[in-house]
Order: sequence, then structure tokens, then C-alpha cells
Amino acid sequence: MNVALSQPEQLRYARQMLLPELGENGQLRLKQAHVLIIGMGGLGCPAAMYLAAAGVGSLVIVDFDTVERSNLHRQILYQEHQIGRNKAQQGAINLHAMAPDVSYQVVREKVTADNVFSLVSNVDLVLDCTDNIHTRLLINQACVNLQRPLISGAAIGFKGQLLTLPMTVNSPCYQCIYHSTPDDQSSCLQDGVMGPLVGVIGSMQALQAIKYLSQIGSLHQEAKLHRFNAIDMQWQNLALTVDPNCPVCAGKPLRSKDAY
Ligand SMILES: [Zn+2]
Repeated sequence: MNVALSQPEQLRYARQMLLPELGENGQLRLKQAHVLIIGMGGLGCPAAMYLAAAGVGSLVIVDFDTVERSNLHRQILYQEHQIGRNKAQQGAINLHAMAPDVSYQVVREKVTADNVFSLVSNVDLVLDCTDNIHTRLLINQACVNLQRPLISGAAIGFKGQLLTLPMTVNSPCYQCIYHSTPDDQSSCLQDGVMGPLVGVIGSMQALQAIKYLSQIGSLHQEAKLHRFNAIDMQWQNLALTVDPNCPVCAGKPLRSKDAY
């Protein structure tokens, strides 16, 4: 690695570099990482804030939408006077004020079949912080084809879920388990959502990303689904299996588990 931490960076990240699992090597891995965050709403805001604060080197943030007053109870990156501004652009401005060492790329576009492959191809890891199944499946397809790990979050009402898909051999893709994720049929607009719940799930997306990028734990080996019920504070952890007939990933040359 021919990259080094400046003295201010050494100070800024001192408390996390104290962790033996991370250390300076892990911090340097974070500094060199490129992460794509699709959707700068309730999940994307805390995810981006924690990744920027942790010193992930480059964040590509994607959102075509503008900040509305009804977003502010959960989209904690934005301020009252920023209503009406584009979420990706204003998000980058606010993140830069908090963590100026990070490089931010703003994409003010809807994710479509035309742009998803170029967005995913330029990064090491993808965070799906969107709120609709059509976009989720597009992102999944690109992550499978380009062999990029995908960390997907969802939250509606008092229920959240976190899906970590390493896209390695014998690990399923989103399409493989699509039928076991019924929450995607709902929406915040229709059903409402608790602000701190999206904060929990978005923060955990950032946590999984930091662990993956700095090679802590075994996220690269196994796909995981975590479900959270905020009413009774219960987590459910599920191991996932590949659908051998999956129309997206069956027969695709996914990476070896050791090649991350
Ligand atoms: Zn699949």
C-alpha cells in the first residue's frame, strides 16, 4: 500500500484505529475504498454520515429527489432551510462540512438500466438505500454481473431488514431471496416509518460496509439476512441459500471467497 494517513487523519481516526481488528492497515483500506450509496433518504443519510466519518476515501452518492419537509423526521443529514434542494448535492455539501477529507461524487439521476452498470463498475461496494423493488432488482443485477458486494437495507413501520450479499461463489443474490422480502411491497409514503428505525438499519449498513472493506470478520464468505422488529426489540438472523434456478445469478462466474 503506497498510501499514508496524514497527521490530522491519524488523530481523527485514532479511536477506531485502536481496535486491533481495524488498526492502521484497516484504516488505510478504508481510505482507498470507493463506495456507491444509492438513495440519500432515511437509510442513505446515516449510512453516508458514518462512512464519511469513518474515513472511507470516496463516496458516490446518488439521488434525483429533493428534500421535503415530511422527510426531516428521519433524513437527519438535512436541515429545515435545505428543503427543495437535491438530496445528493445537498448531502455532499453537508457531508463535506463534517468530513472534508473524503471525496464526494454527486449523481443527480434516477438509477436506470442505462446508468446502473457504469455506476456500479467504478466502486468496490454498493449500498442499496432505495425504497422500491424495481430499483433494488436493477442494482442487484449490476452487482451480480460486475461481482460487487451489495448491502441492502429496508425499513417500514417498525420493521427493518439488513441484507449482506458478498456476491461470491455459493452466495445468493437479491433475486434468489426476493420472495422472502415482503416488506418491499410497502412504502414509507403509504405505511409510515419510525425515524430511529431507519437510523438503526442505515447505521448497520455502514457497519457492514466498514467491516467488509477493512476485512474484519467473514462477511465475504456468507450472505446474511438480519430482520429487526423495533416494537419488541427482537433480531432474527437468517443464513441464505442460492436459488439454483435464479434468472439473475445462476451460472454467473462469481468471485472466489478468497478474492476480496
Ligand atoms: Zn440469484
